[in-house]
Amino acid sequence: MITFEQVVKRYPDGTVAVDDLSFEVPEGEILVLVGPSGCGKTTSMRMINRMIEPTSGLIRVDGRDVMATDPAELRRGIGYVIQQIGLFPHRSVADNIGTVPRLLGWQQDRTEERVEELVEVVGLRAELAERYPHQLSGGQRQRVGVARALAADPPVLLMDEPFGAVDPIVRGHLQEEFLRLQAEVRKTIVFVTHDIDEAIVMGDRIAILAEGGVLQQLDTPVEILARPANAFVEEFLGAERELRRLALIPVSEVTADRGPVVRPGTDTDEATRIAAAAGTDWIAIVDDDNMVAGWSYVTDLNGVVGASDARPFAATVLAGDSLRTALDVLVASPNGVAVRVGPSGSYEGLVTRELVTEALR
Ligand code: ADP
Ligand code: MG
Repeated sequence: MITFEQVVKRYPDGTVAVDDLSFEVPEGEILVLVGPSGCGKTTSMRMINRMIEPTSGLIRVDGRDVMATDPAELRRGIGYVIQQIGLFPHRSVADNIGTVPRLLGWQQDRTEERVEELVEVVGLRAELAERYPHQLSGGQRQRVGVARALAADPPVLLMDEPFGAVDPIVRGHLQEEFLRLQAEVRKTIVFVTHDIDEAIVMGDRIAILAEGGVLQQLDTPVEILARPANAFVEEFLGAERELRRLALIPVSEVTADRGPVVRPGTDTDEATRIAAAAGTDWIAIVDDDNMVAGWSYVTDLNGVVGASDARPFAATVLAGDSLRTALDVLVASPNGVAVRVGPSGSYEGLVTRELVTEALR
């Protein structure tokens, strides 16, 4: 849907902002451009809708050379969301969202219908439509910006640090909501950020740029975290690279250990043998319906294992949780493991430190 071929941008003062940049964005994918301030992210993005013209190289949108396409026509197919949003201060939220449909000459009732739909789609309360931008919170304004960019249903969206001006909690919500929305609308998106965590969350693939607009690595978040191409990328990914990797790997990726499982009614000697075989000083008590009753230190057992011996596990994990969550659970657990359960609480095994480490290898 979008291709760059050996694109260079040299500003009149000689600054090379983008150097020999090539990439492709397939239809329906989010490509994140990430890198330190001044590495040419905004310049790259603005060349896509011709707000900036490349010095050399070729940029195509949907197969067409952008330099051979009328800018107004080009921009009709490209929604644009920026950090400072650029809402019209003296127009209501509804008027702001309807800007492009009105420019395109849509009938008034069609525009109104579309605005109403978008207000809901981006998670704004209907009564906010009559307000003015200064009467909204930062997060609400950002949602209006997204709604406005989507109004005429363009196939391509350009988003330049769209959630950069809001606090981390609101940013997290906006990211989540936007990804849910994207799963439905499937736009082709170039998303710019300087924040590696945002890049990891938002990107189907990530392009990491260095000063001078030089591409360092372009791949999926999982691949980049597992195999940084060079020292620059490694440094940019930061000290918590392995934890960030774990956040992307689901618990279902590892085969959980069976663990020292004991049914109620088992005698203490047998339970002790089961624990010893598993290398633990405790047993997991799992009933005949395979439901987790809890756990007990072997030394606390007396006679036959009963339900009353079971202390509850403080936390459990599901197949879809991340290994980072499992690691968090297991380091806080007196058992040193995370118990994996099914949605109804059935026992599925143990996630151990060793399994987490193996997954990273
Ligand atoms: P980013 O968005 O990654 O922070 P930019 O694309 O805005 O980076 O800028 C890339 C480089 O180009 C920077 O060194 C910046 O100073 C320079 N630059 C941006 N716009 C201009 C301009 N109009 N004239 C000269 N240099 C510019
Ligand atoms: Mg920028």
